[in-house]
This record gives sequence, structure tokens and C-alpha cells, in this order.
Amino acid sequence: APSGLVTPARIFGEDRVNARGWDLFDDGVLADIQDARNVTIGDATSVTVRDASGTNAPVINPTNGAVIAQAQEADAETVARAIEDAQVWDAPAAERAAVLRRAADLYEENYGRFFAILAQEAGKSIADAVGELREAVDFLRYYAQEGQDSPRRPRGVVTAISPWNFPLAIFTGQISAALMAGNAVLAKPAEQTPLVAAHAVALLHEAGVPRSALQLLIGQGGTVGAGLTSDARIKGVAFTGSTDTAQVIARSMAKHMEPGTPLIAETGGLNAMIVDSTALPEQAVRDIVASAFQSAGQRCSALRCLYLQEDTAAHVIEMIKGAMDQLAVGDPWLFATDVGPVIDTEARDGIAEYLDAKRGQIIHQVATPKEGTFIAPTMLKVGGIGDLEREIFGPVLHVATFKAAELDKVVADINARGFGLTFGLHTRIDSRVQEVTEAVHAGNLYVNRNQIGAIVGSQPFGGEGLSGTGPKAGGPLYLPRFFAPEPGIAID
Ligand code: GLU
Repeated sequence: APSGLVTPARIFGEDRVNARGWDLFDDGVLADIQDARNVTIGDATSVTVRDASGTNAPVINPTNGAVIAQAQEADAETVARAIEDAQVWDAPAAERAAVLRRAADLYEENYGRFFAILAQEAGKSIADAVGELREAVDFLRYYAQEGQDSPRRPRGVVTAISPWNFPLAIFTGQISAALMAGNAVLAKPAEQTPLVAAHAVALLHEAGVPRSALQLLIGQGGTVGAGLTSDARIKGVAFTGSTDTAQVIARSMAKHMEPGTPLIAETGGLNAMIVDSTALPEQAVRDIVASAFQSAGQRCSALRCLYLQEDTAAHVIEMIKGAMDQLAVGDPWLFATDVGPVIDTEARDGIAEYLDAKRGQIIHQVATPKEGTFIAPTMLKVGGIGDLEREIFGPVLHVATFKAAELDKVVADINARGFGLTFGLHTRIDSRVQEVTEAVHAGNLYVNRNQIGAIVGSQPFGGEGLSGTGPKAGGPLYLPRFFAPEPGIAID
């Protein structure tokens, strides 16, 4: 086995890596993954599932800028036809569940191809790609399990708009819940990641999902996204992406759709972690580095603002620097790589500009390849979370210090930003765990561990406030949102 195999465990922690499927990697699987590098990952000229009329857009590998495929994007007319053709999935719940389980098996069988696409289209490291496939499969099986005995009716035609940062897992999570409830789904993947979506939809169709119940619409937000969120025939929208876009969608739905049409939005965060002076530094540092830099910081759960208690801060910062220096930044296809590129040149330029403006605050930065859309993992000094202008969606960690007596104020400052996605706490004081976790507004709270990588079924994921509407993905309340309201029957 490649020697690099030990790296993610070293950096990210044995337990997490094993929990997310790194143990899949026996020698045969490793060889398959290496072979998958040469797999043709898309029709070179056109990637589409629905027969779209529209223009071709290049799909770009962020690691080297290469055009790896052309995606035929849908125009407004294609979107209109898709809405017209959509038909709810009229099969018994048990049969729909069986089809989703078959799709889960097909996903697993196709892991090599998925890893290849995720690395080349989304810049995912192999460790991240493994976790992502695992999560997608978990969503399929989890919602199948939750819905297989339900007699409830679907809402009708629903829209699913998913992000590029989990182009397989979140994409699959939204549509599997909507399909399990019997809806017709119109799925719009992010512009940057149509290939993995096309491949997933092809497998869902192969497993038995009717084509009229699942249509893929590749294209731009302004055309496809707008079309799918402004039509009275749409009976529900699942969206994961930025808070700003969620607000645009909410306004459009309010204007065009029936009252009460649900928007299930999972949006951004300004996630904090507090590390007090009783925390075990080795453990805290491992979890800080994983939370801030894994997936190149491109998770909405990622740690953005770290608060260190003054008494031990200097020591912990030195240790973070040391751990950052161990991060291998580069080609996501190499087993040894910890941090791949950010998604595209626009993201890279935006983050680079931000770092340039904050030059004076940089405490530490890691060496990074010059080619491709890489951002050097960076630690910046700030006074507190109030100094963060916005969510920087990349490998940038802001660090503040606090005095013991200021803990309540720190929590108030975090809450004052209005987001509420993830929060981390490292302490060995039991009463503090209770006090702080009760006071902080966040959907997912993590104590003495990293704050990323929620697990379907056991750690439902989602936030409050500016971070989303709920219900949480991968939890028991998510699937019920996709059913029509239950009738109340009164019989005399
Ligand atoms: N569910 C992912 C996690 O727990 C984050 C999802 C996202 O970034 O949208 O890390």
C-alpha cells in the first residue's frame, strides 16, 4: 500500500477516518483507485441526462485548469419542459425503498469512477471522496429505511439545488429524501460539478427510478435555478448554498408559489470553537487543524474563528503552526495529500484578495503549489468573531484570545453574528460543557472533537438563524417535510 495512506489518520484522527470508510482500502481497492485515474469520466462533448437545448459549458479540473468535459446547460425552455414532463413516482413505498437501496449498491460498486470524478471535477482529496461516497450511500439507505412503511402522499414536483462542495453527498441526500416520499424531482447541481451529478442520476435511473420522477437540469443559477424556484407547479424546494441565495429563493417562492410551499435551506456559517486552558492541547490542535483545513476549508461546518484562552494560547498557537507545517497541499489524487485546491479561479482570487488585505494579521501560512487554484492554509490573528467580514470559504483560520472572565462575552459575540451552524468546545470542566453548549446558538455542537463530518442517522446536520431553516439532513424530521400535509379526518 502507498506509504501516504497513514497521512490522513495522522492528521485527521484514526477514529474519524475509520468511521468514514478509510478501512475500505485494502490492496485491491487501492489498485482500483489508482486505475480509476485513467477512467474516462464524461462524454467529452456533452454531459446531460435530460435532452437539453442550451449552450455548452466547460467542466474544469481545479488542480490544473484542464477542461475535462463539456456540460450541455439547460435553457429556460428546457426547464419549462422538464416541469411539464415531471410525474410523481407512483409506486408503493416499499418498492421505492428497494430501488434506493439498489442505487446505494450501485454507488458503492462504482466507487472508482466516483473518486476519479470527485478528484478531477471538485478537487476532492481521496480521503474526502471516500467520506463523501460513504455519506451519499448512507443517505440513500437511511431515507429508504425511514420511509419504507409510510403510507403518506408526496407533495408533487420538487426542486433540489445542491452545492459543489458536497456534489455527491448533498446532491444525493436531497433527491433521495424527495424521491423516497414519492415526489417528482428536478435536480440542479452546482455549475462547477455537473459530472458527478450526471453519473449519480444515471445510476439512480439504472436502479429503477423512473425518468419522469428524476430529471437532472445542468445549468446556471440565473436560468435553471430561477426557473425552478419561480413556478407555481413546484411544491417544495430543497437548497444548500449561500445565505444570500437562500434569501433570493425565498423571495421568489413567496412571489410565485402557493403559500406554505416549503423551502428547506442549509446555508452558511461563521463557526467558532472555544478552547479553554484545561483542554488537552494535542487533542485540541488535531481537531482545530481538521476542522479548519480538511476539504481545504470548503465545508459550511468548517471552523472559521478559534478562541484560545490567553493563559495557554501561545503554546497552542505554536503547536498549530507545527501541525500546519505537516499538511501536504497539492494534487488531491495523491494519497499523501491533506489539502487540495479550492473550487475555481473565482474562489481562489476572492480568498487571495482577502488574505492580501489582511497581510498584517497573518500568524502562519503553509507553502503551496503555484499552479492551479490552491490557497495556502493560513492562520490570521483577529480581536474576535466581530472582525470577520464574511464567511471565507477556504483554508483560513482566524484566531482570537480571551481571558477566563470573558467567556460569557465570547459566547454572546458568537451568537450576535446571527449564524448558528457548528460550534466546537474543548474543555475538561464538565459544568462548562453544559453552560456553554446551552448558551451557544448552533445546530451542531461538538465537544472535545473536531466540528466537521456529521454522520447520517446519528448526527443530523443543519443550523439555525442565518445558517438555515432546518429540518436537519440525515435526521428523522427531514423526510417528513417532503410529504403532503396529513389530512385530518373526522367521522361522525
Ligand atoms: N455535513 C458536512 C459536515 O458535517 C458539511 C456540509 C456542508 O458543508 O454543506 O461537515
